[in-house]
Amino acid sequence: MFDVIVLGGGAAGFFCAIHISEHNPALKVAILEKSMNTLAKVKISGGGRCNVAHADFEPSALVSNYPRGEKELLGPFHVFSTENTIDFFEKRGIQIKTESDGRMFPASNSSQTIIDCFEKEIEVKGIALIKETPVIEIEPIYMGQKKSIHKWKLKTTKQSYECSKLVICTGSSPKVWRMLETLGHSVIPPVPS
Ligand SMILES: Cc1cc2nc3c(=O)[nH]c(=O)nc-3n(C[C@H](O)[C@H](O)[C@H](O)COP(=O)(O)OP(=O)(O)OC[C@H]3O[C@@H](n4cnc5c(N)ncnc54)[C@H](O)[C@@H]3O)c2cc1C
Repeated sequence: MFDVIVLGGGAAGFFCAIHISEHNPALKVAILEKSMNTLAKVKISGGGRCNVAHADFEPSALVSNYPRGEKELLGPFHVFSTENTIDFFEKRGIQIKTESDGRMFPASNSSQTIIDCFEKEIEVKGIALIKETPVIEIEPIYMGQKKSIHKWKLKTTKQSYECSKLVICTGSSPKVWRMLETLGHSVIPPVPS
């Protein structure tokens, strides 16, 4: 039984698990990943250099790059902005450089620097990484007459896992979208951003 399971071991899943542990060190956190390799897209991102941020420091300017999320992302960007991204990596010894067009990369010019940072961070924080374990069903376990969700049961191709809180970070996975639809969520058709 985990306090939190983060489903998906990509950039979003790692970053989310790290932040949950940072703010709540007592929680037992796990990342559940279907494949053998985590952070696979980070590896190839930015032509292998990983374009970690863009030199737009004003949330109102930054959101203009997200045609469908301009309104929704304004609040989150006020909570965690470009400056926080740079700060996150610099605190962990990674220098971020800005190119003339505003793109920001690790000074090493290698996405492996970012991967190494994330992998080290989950080790230091004691976050469990469970690989080669595709989740095939998400089941809410209810408690009491009001039917509030007590915990989540995740069925995988191997065994089941339980957690109090579940975070979905599975990126473009139509299979997971369908699981979410069966739980009552609606999924709007995705488009490239
Ligand atoms: C060629 C390329 C270059 C890019 N360059 C950049 C760049 O320079 N800068 C930038 O910001 N972005 C870039 N991007 C985009 C960026 O890589 C993605 O937006 C980001 O990696 C998405 O992260 P994610 O964690 O949301 O999803 P993903 O990386 O897709 O991670 C989702 C994870 O969930 C796992 N998963 C799926 N279903 C299940 C299941 N049922 N059970 C368990 N696990 C499951 C998957 O195996 C995967 O590991 C690039 C993308 C590509 C393809």
